[in-house]
Amino acid sequence: MSKETDKELTILKIILWTYIILCFIIAGLNYGYVKTAPESIAKLITWTWHFYENWIKSIFIITASILTIRIIKRTQRTQMRKRNLTGFIISALIVHIFAPLILNNNEMYFFVMPLPWTTTPLQLLFEDSSFYASRFPLWGITGITAVLIFYGLISGIVFLGTLLFGRRWQCSTLCLFNGFAAEVFAPVFPLIGTKKKVQPKTIRVLMILKWFNLTLALLFTFYWVLILFEMPVLGDYELIGKLEIYKYLSAELLMMMFFWIAFRGRGYCYYCPLGTVLAFLGKISGMKIITNNTECINCNQCNLACPMAIDIKSKALKGEPVNSLRCVGCGHCVDACTTETLSYTTTFLGVISKKSQMR
Ligand code: SF4
Ligand code: SF4
Repeated sequence: MSKETDKELTILKIILWTYIILCFIIAGLNYGYVKTAPESIAKLITWTWHFYENWIKSIFIITASILTIRIIKRTQRTQMRKRNLTGFIISALIVHIFAPLILNNNEMYFFVMPLPWTTTPLQLLFEDSSFYASRFPLWGITGITAVLIFYGLISGIVFLGTLLFGRRWQCSTLCLFNGFAAEVFAPVFPLIGTKKKVQPKTIRVLMILKWFNLTLALLFTFYWVLILFEMPVLGDYELIGKLEIYKYLSAELLMMMFFWIAFRGRGYCYYCPLGTVLAFLGKISGMKIITNNTECINCNQCNLACPMAIDIKSKALKGEPVNSLRCVGCGHCVDACTTETLSYTTTFLGVISKKSQMR
């Protein structure tokens, strides 16, 4: 490893550690202390949280993307990764910088993950919910309408885009929860220890977690839909809202960062409820990795590169396509392939490429 790569890896690690530590401190203060803090301190904490979530995060995404491309291009192609990172930078600039400035709302990031990932937008439609009560004085009806329109647009873009471009569209281009981090900090996972092969037993546990988490997310969604349609429901909606926040903080935010530190960047993607739904849309889109057995030299680079522990090599040796539900379409295997045997496609992309070949 060259001295330059070493230096860049160290900087990348420092940025990721800073991101994690700041998140622990500021999110801890924001979610745990703001409600009981004196007004001026509470305002300062909330302002810092927004500044961290929008500006610091965007600066980190841009800097880390540049470092990651520089590091990776020394050993392999970066065609797919460049597209991923360009997508994340544009996505961050829109969601974290331009939309908050234009709409005068620093919490647009709450509204970029479609159902069933979070029920926040549904809670905002229900005037008795504490989320509505806390945001109405700040945003008014116009502001609430604006974020709901923004949410509807994003959801449409994610679902339609996935039908055309596969799961790559959201998980490797737009996702500002875990997808961006998995890509912009890719060379430094895990932060502690070395990258290990994911054992079949671990995958089985993560798959159980995946169906459990999806069921939970659908139940929360169903609950708020019933509330909105004024159907009789069991349980207190305040408590249900709180339970969802605890689930988010523990099983999602904390676990996501734990995986960055000890497992791999895409750890959370193994059981993300939105990712699970998009995987089925990806199937409909015809998303797959095309292989070519006349080119494959059995070097195993694709399997080593895959963050979702998919066995690409066995398929490549037989010339069969890889169409695993776990595939996030990151294209790491495509870039890593020594003989350029692999390529990513969907039905729509296939039609486009045929048309351009015919011209
Ligand atoms: S699986 Fe979920 S967290 Fe991971 S990239 Fe996709 S949407 Fe984001
Ligand atoms: S098979 Fe693995 S490396 Fe290849 S695109 Fe899918 S998730 Fe990424």
